[in-house]
Amino acid sequence: MSPTFAQLGVPDSICSALAQRGITEPFEIQTATLADTLSGRDVCGRAPTGSGKTLAFGIPLVAATERAEPKRPRALVLAPTRELAEQITLEIQSFAGPVRVHAVYGGVGYEGQIRALRRGVEILVACPGRLEDLISSRHVDLSAVDRVVLDEADRMADMGFMPAVRRLLDQTAESRQTVLFSATLDGDVAKLTRDYQNDPTRHEVGDETPDITAAHHTFWKVAKADRAGVTSQAVNAVWPAIIFCRTRHGSDRLAKQLGREGVQAETIHGGRSQRQRSRALNDFSKGRVQALVATDVAARGIHVDGVALVVHYDPPEDHKAYVHRSGRTARAGESGIVLSLAQSDQMRDLRRMQRAVGIDVDFTEPDAGGLRQLALKPNPELVAGHEPEPETARPRPQRSRSEGRPRTRATGGKGRSSRRDDRPKSRSNSKKASSGARNAGPKSRKPARKSSAKSKSGSKVRHSAQQSTKGNNGGPNRKARRAHLQPGARRSA
Ligand code: ADP
Ligand code: MG
Repeated sequence: MSPTFAQLGVPDSICSALAQRGITEPFEIQTATLADTLSGRDVCGRAPTGSGKTLAFGIPLVAATERAEPKRPRALVLAPTRELAEQITLEIQSFAGPVRVHAVYGGVGYEGQIRALRRGVEILVACPGRLEDLISSRHVDLSAVDRVVLDEADRMADMGFMPAVRRLLDQTAESRQTVLFSATLDGDVAKLTRDYQNDPTRHEVGDETPDITAAHHTFWKVAKADRAGVTSQAVNAVWPAIIFCRTRHGSDRLAKQLGREGVQAETIHGGRSQRQRSRALNDFSKGRVQALVATDVAARGIHVDGVALVVHYDPPEDHKAYVHRSGRTARAGESGIVLSLAQSDQMRDLRRMQRAVGIDVDFTEPDAGGLRQLALKPNPELVAGHEPEPETARPRPQRSRSEGRPRTRATGGKGRSSRRDDRPKSRSNSKKASSGARNAGPKSRKPARKSSAKSKSGSKVRHSAQQSTKGNNGGPNRKARRAHLQPGARRSA
């Protein structure tokens, strides 16, 4: 039996604040690291997206951080993107009590950030660039920082932040605790560990990359001119959807085209202001829009739970990008659909990519109805060469996480089951019905199919709109979501 938060040494006040959010059992990475981090040791951890790293590092910060003087934070969390910094801040604030947690990042005005720093911030969550600005203008000073967390260190390296991260670490107290989380622990991250951590304990959980075999993978043959139309049909059949485009311009254009086809979509890319990005993310995570159109870079570090469909509108750069994009859906034991649009001259590369990620899926004609059917099915196993196994023989992905969740899945809890249904309230005319899609919980997973797009078996599609009656802003699936932007929201819809 895994220990409770209290048994791991988490103070009662934090335990009860977490319990109020339905968080009662630690996830695996939390169990693995909390005792060490709470005792002040350096930790370096690797765990997949969605495995609960924020609480793993946030709890010890809140538990031990001392009162800060103006402009002199005591703890620092460095994160690669604004969105991630915001998510971390909200998550930690949800149980921080009187401990002041504030984020600083670029793309927004300085005033609010400067004001907060002047009042005093115990835990500062920052993107490296803005933090360096604020230091050089003397609005903040890191010499009192004796706890540092580097979140998504590999991404900070990818995005070119390593020199800044090192400069920042050099300004913190020498006797500090340094905790590092990353999706990989080699390369630049290994160097950082060597240079800036003191005898860290190392904890690794789960596979190095997302387990994309949990999703249904589908490849549609589509002529270039038809892509937007086909995408809108797909999204209308299955959403919430994240659609990946190669360029900012392409994302904007697609969002407009989708709008004309009656699909509500928001874009998120590096060319949009912070305010626009926040609003897009917020609208998406609350179910006000069906789709988020994103570039790869902008999508880094964002995670919204409950994404039903990932569309590779433009092919991914390489097989790694396919895995990372696709990992936005079918997380933590949920199912999900990954749809790739393939023009005839792209098929060869996409075949090669399939082999590289270990899937083997035929290219089929677009079939939105089939997609909807697929959304109602349990997860497949599509690893090439694998024969179907009985469910009991197959470990669930990220087991600890799914089991730690305060939600009912196997019993068809209404929460997420409605999310694939019809469109936001204003457009939906589907009838109220039971939540068929999820009644088949993880326990009743079906054996593998090779080409998921073909499966149009006789199972009845039930349209479960689960409409809220008044024009609330959440849309039909509002409760079905657990977006990180709403840490105060109940997690078990
Ligand atoms: P990561 O940083 O590893 O990608 P997050 O820290 O963002 O993942 O956590 C993913 C989600 O899981 C968040 O919504 C978070 O509130 C939730 N979560 C984290 N730990 C627990 C837990 N022990 N029990 C239930 N939910 C949790
Ligand atoms: Mg995280």
